[in-house]
Amino acid sequence: MPRPVQALIHTAALAHNIGRSRAMAGDARVWAVVKANAYGHGIERAFEGLRSADGFALLDLAEAERVRALGWRGPILLLEGCFEPRDLELCSRLGLWHAVHCNEQINWLAAHKTQQPHRVFLKMNSGMNRLGFRPEAFRGAYTRLNALPQVDEVSLMTHFSDADGARGVKHQVAVFEAATQDLMGERCLSNSAAVLRHTLKNDWVRAGIVSYGSAPDFPEHDIVHWNLQPTMTLRSKLIATQTLQPGDTVGYGSSYTATTTQRIGIVACGYADGYPRHCPSGTPVLVDGVRSTTVGRVSMDMMAVDLAALPAAGLGSEVTLWGQGPGGTILSIDEVARSAATIGYELMCALAPRVPVHVGD
Ligand SMILES: *Cc1c(COP(=O)(O)O)cnc(C)c1O
Repeated sequence: MPRPVQALIHTAALAHNIGRSRAMAGDARVWAVVKANAYGHGIERAFEGLRSADGFALLDLAEAERVRALGWRGPILLLEGCFEPRDLELCSRLGLWHAVHCNEQINWLAAHKTQQPHRVFLKMNSGMNRLGFRPEAFRGAYTRLNALPQVDEVSLMTHFSDADGARGVKHQVAVFEAATQDLMGERCLSNSAAVLRHTLKNDWVRAGIVSYGSAPDFPEHDIVHWNLQPTMTLRSKLIATQTLQPGDTVGYGSSYTATTTQRIGIVACGYADGYPRHCPSGTPVLVDGVRSTTVGRVSMDMMAVDLAALPAAGLGSEVTLWGQGPGGTILSIDEVARSAATIGYELMCALAPRVPVHVGD
């Protein structure tokens, strides 16, 4: 029997979450953001669940090829555009749309030979200060692009730094609107947090984390509040139990000490499976669908969980590290991420290659 740790990708939940973006985004079309191998889910494994989106947005040209290889003929957008001039050849060949965020990318386009003009998303740096033309340079870039025979339609894009938080998006929307007022072209502003929290004029929205059932503004709101469903489950089984006496410690560094007689279970899952080592004692888990907590340090291949309230649990009991548990139970990845002082994005992206992944409902 293989080691019992496994991940499940939930096709129906992916489809449900795309539907949520659609419902929240008015009549905007929805990019399913599948960068980072579909946030760790695997592009091929997530594709069926995400195919009700209007297009796929990603970064890596090899990932774009994988989406085309799945038979997707609709729009694909390279969110960072091309990294070198010859990337444009693949864009022409596969009909990829691409971001244009700097003058060099315009130069490459101007020198590119293509039969088919490219659809481009011109990116404004409206305050994030990562990629894009500053507002005062945006019109010049727009005019230059529009004059190129290599360019078809130009769409207008920007990215928010604080859509999930108190600062919000107003300051960036104001900058964007002032600089684009009289420019023709479709608008693409909102990421997941903006889709959920801010009503904006978009022709396209970029639905990343929301598609994968994690709340971008957790703990202010959770997935129940936003009606999202977990799309990745990490689960395993108990492979041993121990009964601790008062004063007994658990695991490396003896970071946990029992104060009473206490049963614990040993789970076949550790940081080499992608479970965060930083999760302290007390991190939530489900054992046979019942909420419990971790005990002691997470080691490479194992971790311990409290069985004090679970007298029936034993060898073979199912442990849900995050995602969907037995009988419709749920442990949001956001709760585990918070315990590890990070965000759901990082945990899903870090699912380890050694974990077998299955696709189901
Ligand atoms: C990753 C990314 C997104 C998606 O962000 P989420 O917070 O996951 O929705 C949107 N736009 C750009 C430019 C990105 O890089």
